[in-house]
Amino acid sequence: MRVIASTDEARRFSDEARRAGKIVGFVPTMGFLHEGHLSLVRASRRECGTTIVSIFVNPAQFAPDEDFDDYPRNFERDAKLLEAEGVDAIFAPKREEFYAEGFQTYVTVEDITRPLEGASRPTHFRGVTTVVAMLFNATRPDRAYFGGKDAQQAATISRMAADLKTGVDIVVMPIVRESDGLAMSSRNTYLSPEERNDALAISRALREAKAEIEAGERDAGNILARMRETIERSERANVDYVAAVERETFESVDTFRAGGRYYLLVACRVGKTRLIDNEPISIPG
Ligand code: AMP
Repeated sequence: MRVIASTDEARRFSDEARRAGKIVGFVPTMGFLHEGHLSLVRASRRECGTTIVSIFVNPAQFAPDEDFDDYPRNFERDAKLLEAEGVDAIFAPKREEFYAEGFQTYVTVEDITRPLEGASRPTHFRGVTTVVAMLFNATRPDRAYFGGKDAQQAATISRMAADLKTGVDIVVMPIVRESDGLAMSSRNTYLSPEERNDALAISRALREAKAEIEAGERDAGNILARMRETIERSERANVDYVAAVERETFESVDTFRAGGRYYLLVACRVGKTRLIDNEPISIPG
């Protein structure tokens, strides 16, 4: 497994693989890897002849009052995990190269990024789309793998990849959860045992909502009110938003319609930790 720090070298590595007839798969991460990340790596390994994983804690997607400095990092452990998965290269760019002096170019996706995460974290998506565009330019993948856990991010990247004619196929994989339902996240390490227990209300609320919809409830307002109630019964959980949106556009919906495809989404602070989760919903046509 190669460890690559420079953009030029990443480009050479990818170009060589393609010249050898291989499909290049790419998995962008901020490291501190868990089974959620590894599910993306495994999908790429199944479908592509070469897999590149990036590890870069991207300063541009953190607001000044967020956890950039505290974000968990463990490169040695991540490298061992990726080597064991048979990854071909890690791309770990240097901050100084990616955001070189004089940097002033940003990629912005407009409508999808306005609500929800975009409203709570106004500079977040512009940081994400910009770094993903840079990572695509460095690793020149045929396919890139993203987690459904960050559903609005995945929809935003899909839009960007299509709009900017990147030629990169965006693959979105399902959320990987702990056995008790908590969506895996590098930020779960911030939770105390009591907070972790309270955080289970998030996935419970989503599961119950999905079951209610399957049983015939079609009013999004009723569903969201019950989700909020379920989560806020936990002492340490404070809801940032609960929402029901159209799957592709992220426009909010009042009624679930036959044949519709939606997301139920939650963002919630548990103690000081901000967690997000969601459940895709498909109504039979
Ligand atoms: P991050 O390192 O948090 O930036 O995440 C890197 C990629 O892993 C993103 O595409 C995330 O959506 C994905 N990811 C994170 N957690 C999970 C999870 N629990 N299940 C599936 N994918 C995930």
